[in-house]
Order: sequence, then structure tokens, then C-alpha cells
Amino acid sequence: MKNKVVVIVGVPGVGSTTVTNKAIDELKKEGIEYKIVNFGTVMFEIAKEEGLVEHRDQLRKLPPDIQKKIQKMAGKKIAEMAKEANIVVDTHSTIKTPKGYLPGLPAWVLEELHPDIIVLIEAETDEILMRRLSDETRQRDFESTVDIGEHIFMNRCAAMTYAVLTGATVKIIKNRDFLLDKAVKELVEVLK
Ligand code: AMP
Ligand code: MG
Repeated sequence: MKNKVVVIVGVPGVGSTTVTNKAIDELKKEGIEYKIVNFGTVMFEIAKEEGLVEHRDQLRKLPPDIQKKIQKMAGKKIAEMAKEANIVVDTHSTIKTPKGYLPGLPAWVLEELHPDIIVLIEAETDEILMRRLSDETRQRDFESTVDIGEHIFMNRCAAMTYAVLTGATVKIIKNRDFLLDKAVKELVEVLK
């Protein structure tokens, strides 16, 4: 049987990595194993090796053609991992670049990954704005709530096109303030 591939996406700062890590820990307690692969980390390692970036938040500022080349390499690498285990891919539906929204899963990446489920982690735009402001570990771009809302909308549109191309289902999970446990529970159910 084919291993499960679940893609988790969300705008920067929504907490998709946090929700994912917690859900995977819960599942482990129940004997359900998933390997988490962070797409950005795989891309960062490739780009760093080539001397293109020094930190991960520089990736989205690279020329789109270079981002796509690294993205393709990362997609192939992750597809190899999916042969060995059920995987959860922590990534982005679209990446906001200076040249416009870059699809996180263009057709040539989808062909490698064959996702079964795409999970969109969402929150209110003002909650995301505040979370970005309080995260000092990252170089987040400053955006208004209207801009953040546009990005969430574009992510939904892109996710549905990925679904149309692959037959994957699309699940929206809200990671509202003070309700992290609820989001984790919902993701656990999706991954079971
Ligand atoms: P993250 O730590 O999840 O925010 O990812 C770091 C960076 O990796 C993002 O800002 C993007 O530049 C890049 N990245 C992650 N996933 C993708 C993807 N599917 N396609 C292109 N770039 C990606
Ligand atoms: Mg993340």
C-alpha cells in the first residue's frame, strides 16, 4: 500500500509548524507514525550548500527561477522519503515573493508528491499579525491585516487547484488564540 502524504500549509506565523509537531507527538502515543518533513528546511539546506542564502527567510527573496529550481530538487528529495514512511510535509500553499505569489506545489512538485490530503491552517488576520510581531526568531515581513487576508485567500485558491490536479481532499483547520489544543485534536483526527 502507498504511504500517506499529508501536506500542511498556512501563512507565515499562523502556527502550522506548532500544530503539526504537537499532532505528530499525540499520534505517536497512539502508535501511529508519521515523519515530519519541513519543505523550507530541505530547500534551505540546498540553497545554503550553493551559497545562495544564509538564513531561511532569504529564500523567498531569491529570483523566482532559482526558487523553483531549488523547490524542484526539494520536491524530489521529499518524494524519496515518502517511499519509506507516512509523511507530513510542513510547507506553504503559496509563497509571497517580491515578484508575486509563487505556488508552493506547482504541477511538477505534485507529480512527485501525490498528496492525499492538504490541510490549511488558518486564524484571524489580526491574530496572525500579532503572532508575527511577537516572533523574534524569524525575519517575518510586516503586512497589514488586509494583506494577510489576501494571502489566506490565495492559499485557499491554490490549495483547491492542487486538489483538482491530484484528487487530494482539502481540510481547513482554525488555529485560534487560546485554542491550540482544539486545532491539534482536529489535525490528529485528519491524520488517523
Ligand atoms: P518556513 O520555515 O515554513 O516558513 O519556510 C521557509 C521558507 O522556505 C519559506 O519562506 C519559503 O521561502 C520556502 N518554502 C517552503 N516551502 C516551499 C515550497 N513548497 N515552495 C517554495 N518555497 C518554499
Ligand atoms: Mg513553519
